[in-house]
Amino acid sequence: MSVRKLLTEVFHLDLLGGLWQTARFTMTRKATVPYPEKRLDPTPRFRGMFGFSEERCIVCRACERACPIRIIYIDGHLEEVEVDGKKRKKQVLDRYDIDVKRCMFCGLCQEACPTTPKAIWLTTKTYELATYERDLSLYFRKDRLQSWEGVVAYPGVVAPADGQTPDDPGGTGGKERG
Ligand code: SF4
Ligand code: SF4
Repeated sequence: MSVRKLLTEVFHLDLLGGLWQTARFTMTRKATVPYPEKRLDPTPRFRGMFGFSEERCIVCRACERACPIRIIYIDGHLEEVEVDGKKRKKQVLDRYDIDVKRCMFCGLCQEACPTTPKAIWLTTKTYELATYERDLSLYFRKDRLQSWEGVVAYPGVVAPADGQTPDDPGGTGGKERG
């Protein structure tokens, strides 16, 4: 028997090594939290549930074209409107659907959107989208993309219909909510 093996067996060095590791990690800051009582605050660039603004959307379809897996479905029609006394044609949105259950949250749709602020965005901090039924619950039409009906918003985040914007998930406009 080698000296090293003898010392290890006599002084239980393996056991002491294990106890040392346990003691060391007991003192360090934990990386996990007891979810759902506590939640980690997502970083500002975290991509989660979609926000959408029908008001800002100009029906350009850039997001639809940018999506690598074609899960954004847009329909629109031209309508004649009067601007400064002149008749002009304007695109009107009829359908804006996202099949979120297939989304890989790459953010390319948001990147392609030319409006300021973006009309489609994922920086909503909201990630609790688990459901027992994926086909209906995770298929979002334009009204639900704005109202967030059935979506559990991250604490402090409001639905796009209630004022959320890409840079302001709480919809406070920089002010504290009362
Ligand atoms: S985030 Fe989802 S919807 Fe947007 S481009 Fe990527 S896969 Fe398509
Ligand atoms: S890229 Fe933006 S403005 Fe264009 S259709 Fe998509 S959401 Fe609407």
